[in-house]
Amino acid sequence: MGDKKLYDVVIVGGGVVGAALLYTLSNYTDLKRIALVEKQGSIASLNSDWTSNSQTLHFGDVETNYTEEKALNTNEAAKLIPGYEKSAGLSGSGMIKRCQKLLLAVGDEEIEYAERWYRSFAGRLYKGLKKIGIAEVKRIEPNLIKGRDSSERIAVYKSETGYMVDYGRLAKSFVKNSKSTGKEIDMLLNTKICAFGEGGDGYVIKSADRAIRCRSVVFATGAYGLYFAKSIGIAGDLSIIATGGGFFKSKKVLNGKVYRVQMGKMPFVAVHGDPDINDPSVTRFGPIIYLPLGIEKGEFQPLDYAKISGGIGLIPTSIKVLDKYNLYGIISRHLSYSIPLLGKKLFLDNEAVKLVPSLKYSDISHAEGYGGISPRIVNRRSMTLNIGEEKIRKGNAIFNISPSPGASNSLAIAESDAIYLSKRLGFKFNRDKFNRNLRPK
Ligand SMILES: Cc1cc2nc3c(=O)[nH]c(=O)nc-3n(C[C@H](O)[C@H](O)[C@H](O)COP(=O)(O)OP(=O)(O)OC[C@H]3O[C@@H](n4cnc5c(N)ncnc54)[C@H](O)[C@@H]3O)c2cc1C
Repeated sequence: MGDKKLYDVVIVGGGVVGAALLYTLSNYTDLKRIALVEKQGSIASLNSDWTSNSQTLHFGDVETNYTEEKALNTNEAAKLIPGYEKSAGLSGSGMIKRCQKLLLAVGDEEIEYAERWYRSFAGRLYKGLKKIGIAEVKRIEPNLIKGRDSSERIAVYKSETGYMVDYGRLAKSFVKNSKSTGKEIDMLLNTKICAFGEGGDGYVIKSADRAIRCRSVVFATGAYGLYFAKSIGIAGDLSIIATGGGFFKSKKVLNGKVYRVQMGKMPFVAVHGDPDINDPSVTRFGPIIYLPLGIEKGEFQPLDYAKISGGIGLIPTSIKVLDKYNLYGIISRHLSYSIPLLGKKLFLDNEAVKLVPSLKYSDISHAEGYGGISPRIVNRRSMTLNIGEEKIRKGNAIFNISPSPGASNSLAIAESDAIYLSKRLGFKFNRDKFNRNLRPK
């Protein structure tokens, strides 16, 4: 069935990235007709759901593998989330909570690396980030010290920007605060887009039983962003390696987040310990990398995965990339954590006791049902692996693929899409109001 209505913008994908764009377009532009199309029956049920991710608001101040430029951009982007919380009157709602956040370096190599990182830009960029003494660590996060071999040297940095976020609730709140603008907003749930192309006054987006017409379209569909970009013959150089991220958990042993030093250009975050925003009785440890045959949590999608990643070509690409980034060690170590029984022991010895030395085998268990799948973007021409998001544009179509820290950056991704589309379509984006509300002085 062909819809008569011509939308100004159709957003495909109702995770936190799509919802942030809906909020931005409905509140800060003069656009009239917007639709958000989501294949599931509810908003944010995949990677943005609170069970799927680590719930961290990333500022880059404990991510020692970020470049200075990446840290600077992430820092600016993340600030928009507390800005939104304040402007939407959500303080105390429990969807965004302040928490303690530490960076832990274990052993001489990590300590020296962290010191170099701090001296080179982190100490300058993050004024509140300070190295703290062991007495203070004992006081604020005693289980980092308890049971630790006295010969093991550690260094700890305390961040000022500790936040945990339920990104699923945040996405729902973006939608609520979009609908309340009174604009014409259609929420098309249970609508899976299977094709799109140019047509009429812009684009025609097709599901099994309808054709939706729009002047512009933004895909915020995770790995499927690349699928749709490739369907119109662009982004041929890009591919993905889907990496699952799972978790172990224990009873609460940490008061806040504890990140570990990640050395070099490693595209994966080191295993960290986190409180759970919705379950204060536990501490989560992860993410643990695995290599799924699907690109969405709980799904078996080898054909779609092959289409996005270049089919059999993914194998030589992966080998080259793993080699270039020296990833065989970390991947094989993480894959071993999924071996029944033995995996838990390996995880405990290699990862968990580095954070909490007194943990025992019986203290931790697999966090069943937790975790998600990140589409890691690979450029097959340069054989480079992105740390973070990718944005592809063609005409009035935008394709966002947003692995971590995509949730933290969701409002910044939306801002840049709003700016781009306002220039292309000639609508007004009220940037002053956006800044006043979300970047308060
Ligand atoms: C283990 C793990 C830990 C992470 N930790 C953090 C963290 O601490 N902090 C952080 O900032 N980020 C973190 N991330 C990344 C974060 O989860 C993502 O950046 C964020 O959720 C991306 O949001 P999104 O809206 O792009 O994707 P999603 O939330 O996955 O939403 C995409 C939506 O598109 C829909 N969709 C797909 N195809 C179609 C179609 N054909 N038609 C209609 N709808 C479609 C899907 O159903 C889905 O609802 C983590 C990720 C993982 C896997």
